[in-house]
Amino acid sequence: MNSEKLSKRLEKVASFVPKNARLADIGSDHAYLPVYLAKSKQISYAIAGEVVAGPFESARHEVESQALTSKIQVRLANGLAAIQPDDQINTITIAGMGGQLISEILKANPEKLEGVARLILQPNVGEYGLRRWLNQNNYKIVAEAILQEHQKIYEVIIVEKGNQKLTEKALFFGPFLMQEKSTVFIEKWQHELLNKKRILEKLKQAKQINELKISQFNQEICWIHEVIQ
Ligand code: SAM
Repeated sequence: MNSEKLSKRLEKVASFVPKNARLADIGSDHAYLPVYLAKSKQISYAIAGEVVAGPFESARHEVESQALTSKIQVRLANGLAAIQPDDQINTITIAGMGGQLISEILKANPEKLEGVARLILQPNVGEYGLRRWLNQNNYKIVAEAILQEHQKIYEVIIVEKGNQKLTEKALFFGPFLMQEKSTVFIEKWQHELLNKKRILEKLKQAKQINELKISQFNQEICWIHEVIQ
């Protein structure tokens, strides 16, 4: 992967960035995503935020070598602290991290989200918890995607400000993904079903029975059967 040819995963994230967006890519690593979007003239401005020195230097090098320093600012900062009011950011991408870390990043600086119209989030794990957090914090899911790359399955969640009543089941699977039931979605949940059944057996055999966990697993297994049948 490089800024000419993104991974299928980042390509999918890029496809949800609105034309002429002012983008903050948080946890940008090599800054491949903002560089690709700037080179293809899909964004007007970007911040590439990184909290770790090594990736920050890689991002800086990438932006300089592509002669994009007038369009992309690379900043060493924790999460949304990379964003300044003058940047007038209206779109944020956070990709390739756990769902819990993504929600912690969003939670830490709510004032930075005020003018932001769209968040494009790609959690590697913990999608259910992230959707729950978004739902409880006045974000509505406007689109979702699921894809497979190198034997891994990834979800992309696109949210905008607004309220939405979602059931626990919709938060668990993703409201759009569970309607669409793509082949990748079915594959993911067939695999999860086996995992959950295995864990449930262990929970039932444990010395200390955790009734709450057992009933949660039973519920989730039941939902998976309903949705993928
Ligand atoms: N976004 C790229 C992608 O999807 O390919 C890079 C993903 S990489 C696995 C995660 C990056 O997020 C790492 O470079 C890490 O240093 C950075 N990161 C983790 N926590 C962060 C935080 N709180 N603020 C900014 N960057 C963070």
